[in-house]
Formats: sequence, C-alpha cells, structure tokens
Amino acid sequence: MVEDEAELAVAIAARLRSDGHEVQVSGDGPGAVGLVASWRPDAVVLDVMLPGFDGLEVCRRIQRDRPVPVIMLTARGSETDRVVGLEVGADDYLCKPFSMRELAARVRALLRRSERLAGQPERVLRAGGVAVDVPRRRAWVDGRLVALTATEFDLLAFLLADPGVVRTRGELLAEVWGYRDGSGPRTVDSHVRAVRRKVGAEVIRTVHGIGYAGADGSEG
Ligand code: CA
Repeated sequence: MVEDEAELAVAIAARLRSDGHEVQVSGDGPGAVGLVASWRPDAVVLDVMLPGFDGLEVCRRIQRDRPVPVIMLTARGSETDRVVGLEVGADDYLCKPFSMRELAARVRALLRRSERLAGQPERVLRAGGVAVDVPRRRAWVDGRLVALTATEFDLLAFLLADPGVVRTRGELLAEVWGYRDGSGPRTVDSHVRAVRRKVGAEVIRTVHGIGYAGADGSEG
C-alpha cells in the first residue's frame, strides 16, 4: 500500500488486513520501490501523488524489475487520463474518493486474476528485441517495458502470433477491433504507425496493396 496521506493509508491497510491480506505501507516513491523489491508483494495499491517521485514513476520502476499487479489510486480528471492513457503497467485504477468495499473487491479480483495467470503456461511471442507476454498483456523492447494501449497490444500480439502471415486491413479490423463492416482502414494504419514508433518499425512489415505481417522471430 503506497499512500502518503497517513490517515487514508492506515484505513486502507486496516481494511485489507481484515480481508486476510498481509499489508505493508510506504509513504513515498523511493520507499515504495525499495519495499516492493525487498518484500515482493503479490499486488500493489499505489497512489499517484507521492513525495519523491509520483506513482506513475513507481509503477514504471517496479514493473521493470518484476511484473506485479498494480491498482492505481487517482484524483479525478487528468491524473486518471494519464494512468489510463499511458499504460505504465497498472492493471486497474480507482478514482478518489472510493469506498473501502470497492477497493477490497478490486484487490480480491486482481489477486484471483494473477493467480489464474500464474497457473497458465507462459506464452511469450518474440520478434527481434521485442517480447510480448500475451496472458499478462505486457510488451518489452530490449528488456524495457513499453507502454502500449490495449488496441496497440492486441494488434501487435495478433500479428506476431503468426509471424510472416499477411493480414488485410479488413481482417485486422475484424480480429483486433471486432468490426464486422470492414470500415476504417485508416484506423489500422494509424495504429500500425503507433506500434512501430514504440517497438520498432521492423516488427510489422507492410505488404503493399494488401496489408501487414508480423516479422519472423528469426529476422532479428
Ligand atoms: Ca497522495
């Protein structure tokens, strides 16, 4: 539990303990990174506004070491946009003020989900320096976690699942976006551009006049 407002931190910790969780509390960014590294919790509840550096930076740093489920606590408005839009590696978020019951339910759901995922065989797709952990929905370039939006992630994972197989824009719209009318090919192009910008242009190959294909792992 990472929160610098002591009263709130104590209340949250008490609620989570009464639910049967072991809880440790940190009140600042650097302390939180150290605590997560040494204590290795199953989940982190993380406030955005913290002394030292903020929760987004904490989230980036702890995800780099070892992926851990994170629920971010945000103030309404721009903070929420940053958490949702940047995808720093948080799994869920709650806007302040929230009810303790809601938080406890989210923590339980998150732990259930991560236990389920831990039981799954690993499924990591690779192409050159890019690694995509499909069940955990995380992607790395040369070992560095990259912030992909949900759609960018789905597009990349879909293309890399069958390396070298050429997909038309219509196919991608149907499979990734779930569109059935085949409209919006520009949507595909702009998302391909965004993914290339983040993970490297060579990962998605353009097949002129047809569509796109994921690079072969062996292509490097
Ligand atoms: Ca705070």
